[in-house]
Amino acid sequence: MNDEAGESIIHLEKCPGCGYSERIPVYAIAWERSIPVAVCARCALTYQEAPLNAAELERYYRTNSIYHFHGPGSRQHKLVGARHAFLAGLLPSQDRHRCVLDVGCGFGDFLASFDPSAWRRMGIELNAERAAFGRESLGLEIIERPLESPGIEPGSVDLLCAFGVIEHMYDLPTVFASMHSCLAMGGLGVVNVADIDKPDHGVSDYFCAEHILSFCPETLQSAIQAAGFELVKTAPVTPDENKDVGCVFRKVRQDSFWRGMRAMPERAGRLADAIRVYVRRRQEYIAGMRRRFEEAGLFDPSLRVGVYGAGGHTEQMLEGVPELRTVRFFFDSDPAKRGRPFLGGAIHSPEEIPTLGLDAVLISSRAFEEEILAALTRTLPSSIRVIPMYREFGERS
Ligand SMILES: [Zn+2]
Repeated sequence: MNDEAGESIIHLEKCPGCGYSERIPVYAIAWERSIPVAVCARCALTYQEAPLNAAELERYYRTNSIYHFHGPGSRQHKLVGARHAFLAGLLPSQDRHRCVLDVGCGFGDFLASFDPSAWRRMGIELNAERAAFGRESLGLEIIERPLESPGIEPGSVDLLCAFGVIEHMYDLPTVFASMHSCLAMGGLGVVNVADIDKPDHGVSDYFCAEHILSFCPETLQSAIQAAGFELVKTAPVTPDENKDVGCVFRKVRQDSFWRGMRAMPERAGRLADAIRVYVRRRQEYIAGMRRRFEEAGLFDPSLRVGVYGAGGHTEQMLEGVPELRTVRFFFDSDPAKRGRPFLGGAIHSPEEIPTLGLDAVLISSRAFEEEILAALTRTLPSSIRVIPMYREFGERS
């Protein structure tokens, strides 16, 4: 791709799954430009019609990078256990040294959980800082090139993992051909993606600029079969959250060619309807939240309010609740964010809350609401109201 191509807008005129051009428009993601999302009327694959190009993606990630805590006790670390549970009983026998390849391995938590005396542990990670951590601190082999580029010996991988990866790509035939090529005969692949059939009705939008594709269980299976793999298992990888779908599949033939995703027009219609219902419910949800904020007196202009949580959740919350855009104090537990400008204000350490003369702190997090609520209730003076967003609003007990 030359520089010019990097700047021009990509238009997917045909479905990346089946090549059909008829589509059902279902959504538009608000970014610098609007990104339309459609469901293929034939195979039900859900895709952005004009995904971000390389230059736009770089700009997007510069402001939207998500800091992932890693190591023991973190959410990333809990995912390691969930992934092993998902693969339980399916891993190849240890009759010889095996090779595991984790595509998009991040800091390498999952790879590091494999015994190095039994496994060659390889990862692909394009973020240089994470790649260096995996290499230097965990002793992993990390490649900083995309899976499609040469570098992995064909037929050398016994277990290929790609958790939360394929939704970032639109060239499905190439992605799956690369997986097929590096897997050994009988080798296993495992992928997971967010399940578009189970979107949250929270503040964070299911649709985001970096996810070009969306899958339901049927379309994920269809894509894997289109690449010539045999399906082994389909289920959520995180059954307690139940918002994702994962598939394990096996390489059963030497040759690989893209057969195209199968026709499921009825499924496409149902999926498009379900997405429209999701969009409406999310709008209603945010409208309801705005009403509750108003009833809690949060829009009183004399009230000095801070927001706990300086990330995408808060950005999306303020998009739906314009009355709170005057907030200037944001708090975050991530030390790397402190002092940075954010939405017209600045990010502070939670320890600073009592020193800033605030009347109330709104917790802008779903996953960590209870944890943050407990910590703030314990540490803040009773003159500062702590307001959770998801559980019933109320005065501190
Ligand atoms: Zn299609």
